[in-house]
Order: sequence, then structure tokens, then C-alpha cells
Amino acid sequence: MSDWTLDLGGVRLRGIADEDPFTLPRSFLFPDSTPQMLHEAAALDAPACDLARDEVQLRIQVFLLEIAGRLVLVDAGIGDGKERPNRPSWHRRSTNFLARLGVPPDDISLVLFTHLHADHVGWATRRDGERWVPTFPRARHVVAQAEYAHWAAQSYAPVMDSIEPLREAGLLDLVPPGHAPLPGLRFRPLPGHKPAQAGVLVEAARQPVLLAADVLHHALQLVAPEVVSAFCSSPEQARATRHALLAEAAEAGLALVTAHARAQPLWRVVRNGAGYALA
Ligand SMILES: [Zn+2]
Repeated sequence: MSDWTLDLGGVRLRGIADEDPFTLPRSFLFPDSTPQMLHEAAALDAPACDLARDEVQLRIQVFLLEIAGRLVLVDAGIGDGKERPNRPSWHRRSTNFLARLGVPPDDISLVLFTHLHADHVGWATRRDGERWVPTFPRARHVVAQAEYAHWAAQSYAPVMDSIEPLREAGLLDLVPPGHAPLPGLRFRPLPGHKPAQAGVLVEAARQPVLLAADVLHHALQLVAPEVVSAFCSSPEQARATRHALLAEAAEAGLALVTAHARAQPLWRVVRNGAGYALA
């Protein structure tokens, strides 16, 4: 698992892998896709495409921003020790992730969640005996109010073990759409994958960069933006959000850092027929 660092001009962005690759059958993640689409995607993100097995390979990672002297995490990966019996590689893990993070947990001042899926919240807590306690006890943890409400109403296990302990410790901030948790950082609503998914717009960068969460899971959705993942709550809305964001990225030069890309973290997209390619 290799980590990467980008200098965004006044802001440093690191991607620290938590599981890489995370492999799924193409036809499972993208039921409406074709093997041909995966072949075309391989030209854009080859390590994300196992053509022989017809599988997609994702990277699950945590982003670390250094901005104005603060350390900010965006999303929190899978975590260790969590009960995830439906996903063997996520179940009761023990990894060296916190060592690879390279900064003391106490130095993290902000943790932003794009959405609350199991692969985006896990490191927010760690096991202490029978309890889950905050991994980053000096950080405010911030998520859209509507995203939290959606999952809390279902008692979704990753929210119960990775978010509720933050709330009980008084470290959780539930915010409205478009909230700016820090000057130079702003949540940007990207609904569809989840009802209140939000990207994080790095306004302080030399050129605007959007941490775009799961608007695109894979380069296959550049080739075929209409293809929706099996994990999206609202396929219609997910498709509309992706089309609008890709058009903006191509026309206005908004660079995208998607949550699960492998070969290249920063995507500058250009139109290519009915789809998109990387510049
Ligand atoms: Zn994800």
C-alpha cells in the first residue's frame, strides 16, 4: 500500500491507504456496466481494473490535509477491531494504520466525514476494553446533520460504534449543507450515493480541488457516467449529481480527488464523447 502527498499550493494533501486493493466483481459493484466499459476504464486507471477476472480494485484511504497550521482528516477509513462480519477483510482487523498516519492522534484538530459508510468512519474510534473511544480526542468531528440523521434512525452498526461515541463525548458537530468548518474548507452537497453525502472543497488551494467522496467510485464511471453503484441510495440523484459535477470539472477546471481511485489521486477531467477522460 503506497501513500501519496500532493502540494496544492499552501495546502498539503496526503492519501493514507487503509485497504488497497479492495476488490469487488465489476458486475456486483456496477450491475448495469459491461466488460467493455472496464476495458476502457483501464486506459484511465489501470491498477483499478483486473480485466482477466472482470473485477474492480478500489483503494480505501484516509485523507490528511495540512492547512493553515492545522491537521485535518477527511474520512476515517475502516478502522481496527470493528465487527464487520459481512466483509471478512474489514472484520476485527489489526493494522499499523495509525503508525503510517505519521502524526500523533492528539495533533488532529478536525475530522470531516463526507458520508457515514463503514469504510469512511472506522478510525474515528478505537477499542478501549469493552468500549469504543475517540481515536482523535482533541478533534471536532463534523458531518452533515441530514447524513447523521439518516443512519442514526437505522441504528447502522458503523454509526453506532464509530460516530455515537463521538457524540457521547461531546466531539460531534452536526452541520447544515454548505458549512465551512475552517476558512478555506467548505462542505459541498453531493447527494445521491447517500442522501446527504458532501464533498470537501479545498478553497484555500492554488486551484480549487474537491475531495469528491463517492460521486465516482471508479474510472469506469468516467467512461460511463450513467452507471450507478449498487451502494447508492438514490440512483437517479446519484447520476444527476455525477453528470453535473463532471461537466463542471471539465468546463471550470475543478480538480477532483475521488475517495477510491488507485493510479492517480488528482483527476483533471476532459470530455470524451458521451463520457470523460483524464487530462
Ligand atoms: Zn466509499
